Amino acid sequence: MGRQAVEYIADLHDRSHNAVTPAHAVDVNELRTALLRPPPTGPTNFAAVLNTFAAAVSTSTATVSATAFDHIPTGALYTAALAAFLAQGVNPFTGLAVHAPLLVALEEGVLRWLCREFGLPDTAGGLITTGGSAAGLTALVAARTHCLGHQLASGTWYATAHTHHSLDKAAHIAGLPAHARRVVPVDSAQRMDLTAANTMIDADRAAGRHPFLIIGNAGSTGTGTIDPLAGIADVAARRGLWFHVDGAYGGAFQLTDRGRDRLVGIERADSIVVDPHKGLSLPYGTGVLLVARRDVLHATYASSSPYLDDATDPQLPDYSAHGIELTREFRGLRLWLPLHVHGTHQFRAALDEKLDLAHAAYRDLAADPHLHVPYTPDLTVVTFRPRHGSTRHLLDQIHATSPVALSSTRIDGADLIRLCVLSHRSHAEHVDQALAVIHAAARTTPPAG
Ligand SMILES: *Cc1c(COP(=O)(O)O)cnc(C)c1O
Repeated sequence: MGRQAVEYIADLHDRSHNAVTPAHAVDVNELRTALLRPPPTGPTNFAAVLNTFAAAVSTSTATVSATAFDHIPTGALYTAALAAFLAQGVNPFTGLAVHAPLLVALEEGVLRWLCREFGLPDTAGGLITTGGSAAGLTALVAARTHCLGHQLASGTWYATAHTHHSLDKAAHIAGLPAHARRVVPVDSAQRMDLTAANTMIDADRAAGRHPFLIIGNAGSTGTGTIDPLAGIADVAARRGLWFHVDGAYGGAFQLTDRGRDRLVGIERADSIVVDPHKGLSLPYGTGVLLVARRDVLHATYASSSPYLDDATDPQLPDYSAHGIELTREFRGLRLWLPLHVHGTHQFRAALDEKLDLAHAAYRDLAADPHLHVPYTPDLTVVTFRPRHGSTRHLLDQIHATSPVALSSTRIDGADLIRLCVLSHRSHAEHVDQALAVIHAAARTTPPAG
């Protein structure tokens, strides 16, 4: 069974480099009906079960494709998939350090390395979560608890309209009313307007409210734009707000020289979210929260119960006291194993390559007279629209004629196509393939009627 499973994944990953679409001919309606049925009472042969799974996979979006440039692509590193298999085969309990101290140390080693990469102080710590949404929620509740205590009603928080909707969801879950959210205006480059932020905070304070949190984007999802993080750090420091940085997409570029230059100020954050299942090409289910003060996480989430062992290891954190979960998947191995097998240099080099590829794509698209390319990319998202004609039509045309996957967004009332280069599988040949398809489609897109 193991051999069949590994062969299937190895074959899928091999084919992903050539950007071919799956060859399976699947009757979707028939398979959906079969899959919605309850499981059988007796056994089924493993190969048959694997076949059914593979058929369902072949109708799904190919996130492991080298020409996936839509949304925030990720590559699902093969070594991370092996790590997930090993971790779940062993199934250690890492909610309390005492049950698997050296495996907690393994996970903590990865988090400490990330804290150092981001320039956080010695008091820093973190948690590996299921993704950016869970990490953001964990941070927001810590900020709320630390800054507001139980006085939720008067708290206000500040972020631009480009801030990811998962943080609005987090605020909702955290019991903050919708009117506590302040939309800070952006400048023409779509970055937070710091003067406006100061004015809004001062006005709220004068009105008796409690401004407590300001969020900076370290690469917005729509355009990959970085807010002025050092300026936001100043605003937060002067007015006593918690400074959260959402680097779910862009945080990983801190591993590169150019990224570190562009993200300057991030080292002053109270909390940072970075999604290894985006920028480090890991499989879905891997997000990271880093905080400047791990004692604040502990004060927010620590709890005890007579049925839990209370012996703690003074050297190591109890991750159940850093977040929502008690029993948790051993996610650390998914980072640790690839980081050791490949070495950190390969991750840095892969991210550097993406910065080069995105910049080359930007120059190439900007030179096309049929296209308008409104923003210079800070990271690896390039946005464009046809000078004449419909953005939707152009995107449909691209998807109808090639396996290249792009997505769209709306900024300042204009529909834009997004090309996001991030997967470790995507190289110059794949970006060139996308550019050729885009140019060809742009030439034939009719003016809007
Ligand atoms: C993807 C994303 C999130 C949400 O992360 P998930 O891992 O999808 O839960 C938050 N912020 C930004 C900027 C993102 O790109």
